[in-house]
Amino acid sequence: MRFAVLTRDLFTCRICGVLRSDTSLLVADHIRPHRGDLDLFWDESNLQCLCKTCHDTVKQREEAAARRSGKG
Ligand SMILES: [Zn+2]
Repeated sequence: MRFAVLTRDLFTCRICGVLRSDTSLLVADHIRPHRGDLDLFWDESNLQCLCKTCHDTVKQREEAAARRSGKG
């Protein structure tokens, strides 16, 4: 499933456009957080290929924004 997303996106990061032949450097990321929703979780159209660098950056920013919006 993860691999299907990476091949579909041609091992290319959707954010920075870097191409990684080493799949350990790529992440299948949920565009909309699934929050336990299995339909969203398994929806390939809700998945994008990101490199680890972008994934970590984006997720850190999202988590920081969630904290600021008063969840913490
Ligand atoms: Zn990237």
